[in-house]
Amino acid sequence: MINGQCLCGAVTFKVDMPDDHMGETRYCYCSNCRRANGTAFSANVPVPVENYTLLTGTDAITEFESSPGTQRAFCSKCGSPVYGKKVDDPGHIRIRLGTLDQDAKATPVAHAWTSEKPAWHNIDGYLKRFKESADGTGGTPK
Ligand SMILES: [Zn+2]
Ligand SMILES: [Zn+2]
Repeated sequence: MINGQCLCGAVTFKVDMPDDHMGETRYCYCSNCRRANGTAFSANVPVPVENYTLLTGTDAITEFESSPGTQRAFCSKCGSPVYGKKVDDPGHIRIRLGTLDQDAKATPVAHAWTSEKPAWHNIDGYLKRFKESADGTGGTPK
């Protein structure tokens, strides 16, 4: 069991995954992730909705449709991004690894949307790079 929370602590949640392993993580450089997080990229991991439990803060959460069919939820008090949801993938909730309390076990698998990567950030390392989505929905490895 891994717990997570927003910066102010109003929103808390838990994720129950085998061996506390969160799964496959994609570093996403799309302009929406950059703006939503204020950083070069977002460390996103889709977990099955049945493994995710919101413990507190339902009233503090605001959902924002950043693109058609994609909801980004953030804490209205402190602004932390707490999850994302996609209409075309209702079985998963996308959490941001940085909101987890403990060191999360996750397997980085790809850099996504490198076509929108800011010039001031360099990607190092061996992971596959995709100019667009790395979810297997039209991404183009480069
Ligand atoms: Zn908060
Ligand atoms: Zn993104």
